[in-house]
Amino acid sequence: MKALINIDYTNDFVATDGALTCGEPGQAIHDKVLALTKEFYEADDFVAFAIDKHTEQDPYHPETKLFPPHNIEGTDGRLLYGDLEAYYQQIKTAKTVYYTDKRRYSAFNGTDLETKLRERNITEVHLIGVCTDICVLHTAVDAYNKGFSIVVHQAAVASFDQPGHEWALRHFENTLGATVI
Ligand code: ZN
Repeated sequence: MKALINIDYTNDFVATDGALTCGEPGQAIHDKVLALTKEFYEADDFVAFAIDKHTEQDPYHPETKLFPPHNIEGTDGRLLYGDLEAYYQQIKTAKTVYYTDKRRYSAFNGTDLETKLRERNITEVHLIGVCTDICVLHTAVDAYNKGFSIVVHQAAVASFDQPGHEWALRHFENTLGATVI
C-alpha cells in the first residue's frame, strides 16, 4: 500500500507575496502537485496533507529566530496554494484523506501520521511539496528511519534554493535509498 504526503504547499511557501516563499520554482510545480493529488485520491490511495502551523511570535519555537512569521494559524498564508485548496475542500471528508498540522519540518514530528500509515499497512510514501531541502528532506529522513520505502516526485518538489534542491534530490536517492521519479 502506498500514500501521498503533500507537504507545506501553502500560500506562504509558494505565492509571490508569501511570507517565506519559494517563488517561481514553487509555483511551477502547481499542476504536478494537483495532478498527483488527484491521481492518488482517484486510485483510492491514502492522501495526507502535513501543513506547518505557527502562532505569532511563539517564543518557544526555534523557527521564530530563524525565519519571518509564516503559516500562522487562521491566516490565508496557511491555505493551500492555487487550485489545491479548492480540491482539498472537495475531498477532505473522504476516509482516504487526512490533514495534519505540523510543528516542525518533518511531517512525522508530533503528528499521528505514522499511526495512520501503519493502520493502513502502508509501506511506501510518496513525497511532494516544499521545500525540497527543508520539510521534504526532514520528512524523508524520518520515513527512512522508520523503514518506509520512499518515492520523491522531482517535478512536484521545489525550493527557493536551487543548489539545496539539487543536493536534496541526490541525498534522497544516494543516502536514503529513495526512488526519485
Ligand atoms: Zn515553519
